[in-house]
Amino acid sequence: MRYIPEPFKIKMVEPLKMTTREQREAYIKAADYNGFALPAEAVYIDLQTDSGTGAMTDTQWAGLMRGDEAYSGGRSYYRLMEVGKELFGYDYIQPVHQGRAAEKVLLPIIIKAGQYVISNTFFDTTRGHVGLAGGRPVDLVCAEGLDTTTYADFKGNMDVEKLVAFIEEHGVDSIAGIVMTITNNTVGGQPVSVANLREVSAVAKKYGILLIIDAARFAENAMFVKQREPEFNDKSIKQITLEAFALADAFTMSAKKDAIVNMGGLLGVRDNPALVERIKSNVISFEGYLTYGGLAGRDLEAMAIGLEEGLDEDYLRYRIGQSQYLAAKLEEYGIPFQNPVGGHGVFVDAGKMLPHIPWNYYPGHALAIELYLEAGIRACDIGSYLMDPDPVTGEQQQAPAEFTRLAIPRRVYTQAHLDVIADALKTIKERSREVPGYEITWQAEVLRHFTGKLRPVKL
Ligand SMILES: *Cc1c(COP(=O)(O)O)cnc(C)c1O
Repeated sequence: MRYIPEPFKIKMVEPLKMTTREQREAYIKAADYNGFALPAEAVYIDLQTDSGTGAMTDTQWAGLMRGDEAYSGGRSYYRLMEVGKELFGYDYIQPVHQGRAAEKVLLPIIIKAGQYVISNTFFDTTRGHVGLAGGRPVDLVCAEGLDTTTYADFKGNMDVEKLVAFIEEHGVDSIAGIVMTITNNTVGGQPVSVANLREVSAVAKKYGILLIIDAARFAENAMFVKQREPEFNDKSIKQITLEAFALADAFTMSAKKDAIVNMGGLLGVRDNPALVERIKSNVISFEGYLTYGGLAGRDLEAMAIGLEEGLDEDYLRYRIGQSQYLAAKLEEYGIPFQNPVGGHGVFVDAGKMLPHIPWNYYPGHALAIELYLEAGIRACDIGSYLMDPDPVTGEQQQAPAEFTRLAIPRRVYTQAHLDVIADALKTIKERSREVPGYEITWQAEVLRHFTGKLRPVKL
C-alpha cells in the first residue's frame, strides 16, 4: 500500500529524546514495568493514545489567542454553537471539559437503578458511568466484530437481531437507552454503517427507547461510510454526519479525538426541552456555567475550528491511511492484527504473536513493554491485563483477545516513524520466544492497569 502524503507541512517541531537500550531498561524497571509510569520524555514514539495528543493547525493556535474569556456569553461560545448546531443539526449543544464529563452529566438523568443500557460496545469510561448511575451495561456487537481474522467493512455494527431479542426478553421498561459508539473504539476503532444506525434507530423508535451516539470519532466513521457504503460514495462528510446524527436523540462526544484539541467535549440533544433543563442543572453543578462548561474560552475557540477542519477529506484519507500503511507492513512481516484496521490505530494480536505466553501472563502487556525496550515505543495492553478481577469472586478475568494497541496521534508522526514501529515488531517477532510474560506484584482495586506494578517472568 502507498503511503498517503501529508496534506500539511510542518512549521513547529518538538524535539524527541533518543535513548539507548540500557537507558530504557533502567527507565522501565524504575516504572515497575508499567508504561503509564514512564516519564513521557523517555519515550521516542508515543502510541499510548490518540486522545488529546494530536497536533493543532496554525488556525487553531491563532484561535487560542482570540478566545474570549468572559465568564458568560463569550464570543467563542457562540462560535462553537454555530459550528456545532450546523454540523450535527441538534437544537441544544453543551460544551463540557471532556467526553466522560458529558457521560457524567447525562447518564444519571436517564438511568433508573437496575436498568440496562445496550451498546454496540461501550468504551470503558462510558461503561463506568453507566455503572456509577446504577445501570447495567450490555454489549451486543455483531459477530464479525470479535473475529480478528476475517474481513468485514463494518465490524463496529450492532447485532440488531440480538438487540430486539434482548428488548423482548427483558421488557422495554428495564432498558434506559441504547448507545452507538462510532467508531467502535473497543473492538479496534471499527466503523458503524449508516444502514446499521438506521436499523437501530427504527428499533429504538418502535419501542420508545432513547438512542445516544458516543461520537468521539464521528468524522473517521463518516469517512469509512463514504468509502465503503455505496449509497454515500458521493456525499460529503458533513452530509453523512447530518444524516447519521438525525437518527439519534442525543450524543456525547470527546473532542480530544476528531475535533483535534488537547481538551474538550460536547453533549448534544436533538429535540427534548425537558431533558435539556435537567442537563443544564447538572452542568452548572459539575462543569461550570453553561457557556463555558469546564473549559477556557480559548479551548472553545480551538474546538470550533477543529470540528470544521477535521471534516476535510484529504486530511481524513491521510489519517485513516496511516493505520492502513502500518497494517500493510505488518501483514508483509506476518504479524497478526485486527483486520481490517480501524481509524485510530492498529491492534496487534499479541496472543497469536507470542503463543508461549499464557493469557494470565499478559501477552498484550508483554509486547507493549518489549516495544519500549526495542525502540522506545510506548503502546498499551487491550487484553486480560486491562480486565480488573471479578468484583464478586476476585478471580482473574480473561479478555476475548490479547491485543497490544498502537494508537496513532493525529498529524504527529511521519512515514519514517511508522517504519520504525513496523521494523521493531519484525525484530521482536524474530526473537519472540525470548519475550517474557509478566506477573502483577501490586494492583489497585479498580482500573488496575493505570497504576499496577509488574515484574517479568521467563516462560
Ligand atoms: C475517549 C472516549 C471517551 C471518553 O472521552 P474522554 O475525553 O477521554 O473523557 C468516550 N467514548 C469514546 C468512544 C472514546 O474514545
